[in-house]
Amino acid sequence: MNKISSTQPRIVFLFSDTGGGHRSAAEAIIEAIHLEYKDQVVTEMVDIFKDYAPRPLNYMPDLYPKMVRVQQVWGLGYYLSNGDRRARLLMGTAYPYVRRSMLNLVHHHPADLYVSVHPLANVPVLRALGDRRPPYVTVVTDLVTTHALWYHRKTDLCIVPTQEAGQRAIKFGLKAEQVSVVGLPVADRFCQPVGSKQSLRAQLNWPQDLPIVLLVGGGEGMGPLEKTAQAINSAQLPAALVVICGRNVSLKKRLESVRWDIPTLIYGFTREMPAFMQAADILVTKAGPGTISEALNAGLPMVLYSRLPGQEDGNVSFIVSEQAGVWAPRAESIVAALRKWLDKPHLRQQAAENARRLANPRAARQIAQILMSYLTDGRSKLGQPPQRIEGTLP
Ligand code: UDP
Repeated sequence: MNKISSTQPRIVFLFSDTGGGHRSAAEAIIEAIHLEYKDQVVTEMVDIFKDYAPRPLNYMPDLYPKMVRVQQVWGLGYYLSNGDRRARLLMGTAYPYVRRSMLNLVHHHPADLYVSVHPLANVPVLRALGDRRPPYVTVVTDLVTTHALWYHRKTDLCIVPTQEAGQRAIKFGLKAEQVSVVGLPVADRFCQPVGSKQSLRAQLNWPQDLPIVLLVGGGEGMGPLEKTAQAINSAQLPAALVVICGRNVSLKKRLESVRWDIPTLIYGFTREMPAFMQAADILVTKAGPGTISEALNAGLPMVLYSRLPGQEDGNVSFIVSEQAGVWAPRAESIVAALRKWLDKPHLRQQAAENARRLANPRAARQIAQILMSYLTDGRSKLGQPPQRIEGTLP
């Protein structure tokens, strides 16, 4: 087990498409590794559920959008499992059921370094790897109210996006030297200086003469996107609307059949999010950590209209307290927030500056360096107690 034939070191990323944030984080780190180190390292992504979990857990990525739609039940599950002992008990009970699949995973995907960007990977994969194993690093992709399952005592290093997430790592039993505060990794294209909005909009075929409101519901097109789009339209706000339905195909079909009163463009899942964010003026979004971090890097002020209870609660308070955005959970409050920012561009500009101040555009590359140091030195020189690294989220 874990014998690898390639001469280059291999990093295996453990993720799953439950939402879009885990994939985006893994892809951002992989991109940074190849930008920094070209082809010195082989990287691979493994979907822990789709490719390796036994039935019915392998349907998790497909079921996830339906599960999180029942928010009270999701929130209850989150709170009931979110304790050190409770989380371990839960995973310990589940392990016999997934053991064979996890042994297959580590057998089929040998690595010099495993990187987990999913909280449910840690217990089963670390158990399957056993004691004589390559280094294992966790990159936490929730911002503030992080679940106990992110933090496994046997992880070699746990990279977190905020001080709060670092403090929670300590609370859940990690030693200070196992934790490093870096920031959430986002794709390099979000971190480039914003070019001319005019030329981006010309390329995208977007209106030039109106502010653009970008409406996003995570990778799955979640939350009351339809109601929100209709409310913005009915209010006849002086703006153009771009709606991203993500993987929600039926929503896209429904919105495409609407006759809009304001200029409106409807998209399904797009790979062009960096260009979209840089060309837009205001983001209206569910409080997903990936989308929020990308918007911070793009200097895009945001109206947060929904959040998953538990894991996304802290994202809202973080953005609101730093004045990079507002919380508006109802259609009327979204319209009111947009109207204020459209009428008073200097307030919008202030929120955009606050957003930019919170971003750490170097996060993906800093994580790439940390991972590389595991391959070259066996362990990270950069793994340090929770600390503020210049330019990161507080
Ligand atoms: N995303 C994308 N294309 C789309 C919709 C979303 O690339 O059409 C990406 C988005 O840029 C972000 C991720 O999907 O990186 C969503 O992650 P987030 O943590 O915001 O929410 P989740 O979907 O995980 O709940």
